[in-house]
Amino acid sequence: MAFTVGVPRERVAGERRVALVPEVVARLKKENIDVVVEAGAGDTAFHPDAAYTEAGATIGDRAAAFGADVVVKVQPPMAEEIGLLSAGTVYIGFLAPLDQPDVSEQLAQQGVTALSMELVPRISRAQKMDALSAMASLAGYKAVLMAADVLPKFFPLLTTAAGTIRPANALILGAGVAGLQAIATARRLGARVAGYDIRDAVREEVQSLGATFVELELEVANMQDAGGYAKAMAEEKARRQTELLVPFIGKSDVVITTALIPGRPAPTLITEEAVAAMAPGSVIVDLAAPNGGNCALTKPGETVTHNGVQIIGHPNLPAEMPVHASQLYARTLMAMIQEFADDGQFTPNFEDEIFKGACVAHGGEVVNERVKGLLVGKG
Ligand code: NAD
Repeated sequence: MAFTVGVPRERVAGERRVALVPEVVARLKKENIDVVVEAGAGDTAFHPDAAYTEAGATIGDRAAAFGADVVVKVQPPMAEEIGLLSAGTVYIGFLAPLDQPDVSEQLAQQGVTALSMELVPRISRAQKMDALSAMASLAGYKAVLMAADVLPKFFPLLTTAAGTIRPANALILGAGVAGLQAIATARRLGARVAGYDIRDAVREEVQSLGATFVELELEVANMQDAGGYAKAMAEEKARRQTELLVPFIGKSDVVITTALIPGRPAPTLITEEAVAAMAPGSVIVDLAAPNGGNCALTKPGETVTHNGVQIIGHPNLPAEMPVHASQLYARTLMAMIQEFADDGQFTPNFEDEIFKGACVAHGGEVVNERVKGLLVGKG
């Protein structure tokens, strides 16, 4: 007997992605996995209901999508959506487990087995399930295009009859997946690019993209954890870092910030003083806005102007590219589903490193230690 995957329509304002695209539906169908899509779920990603039907899905209502054996979504479920899930349902999606541990708790209370795409371990076998990297790459690209759009200058060096235009200076703070894509995109547009990260290990990657690596007089040994993520800095060191960055920020036309530390507010890298050092007309795009922002003046979800410097705190850049964002996200979900689909069933497997890493709720309990710790801390 086959199991059914449900695809509800996203309801968070501005979310234009959909969890599964017709191409992926067709591939799941070939493996005897049925898909039920809530009517209109793909509209904002330019996939009409008819495209899903053609791919072999059934179009249903909200209850049908949430009533499937495996429910997949983009945005973490709202309380009302969790109420629509039955005990024993498998839920796979972004759950922001370290920022919103209550969501995992509510899923556990509902008896749902919940897998968080953020917690898929970054091992080579799980690369095809790495939704965070897929979305970060889109965000890094789009951030540069947004900056280029509002910057009152050219990005490239131009030699014209009326004289030579100097290239814009772009500084990318945080050189993980989003930052490296931002560096590559800014280079393609012709800017002079510098990149900076607290993890010294990325220096060569930054340089190989044609950017210079910003060196600060700061001790950076041991700033990377076992998972490859940055560790939080002591307060005094963090303050020193912001001071040392001021002259680099001051001479930049564009600053794209991407610095994140899992489970913590985004570190402040750009102080008000640093913004004041920038020329009017310059642009900051703060990709860390949903986590509080890397710039002290960022207002998540808004664009603010300070001394003529625009600070863009877009809340969800991947949603601005819903076609490719949905396509890539859907493939990571498909890989997850295929990995644990066995003999016509979706089978939890706690012996498996990926399943164990990603699972936050099972059998009525929150099963991830970090999430559990956060909940205890709150209680
Ligand atoms: P992230 O989104 O958690 O953070 C973005 C960047 O911000 C990171 O490079 C981090 O070092 C940097 N940062 C944090 N605090 C900072 C500070 N105070 N100052 C400057 N920079 C700061 O990171 P990510 O993009 O998810 O990537 C994290 C690591 O995981 C990278 O090494 C990446 O190459 C690696 N990775 C591995 C795999 C895999 O093996 N499958 C997949 C994706 C990413």
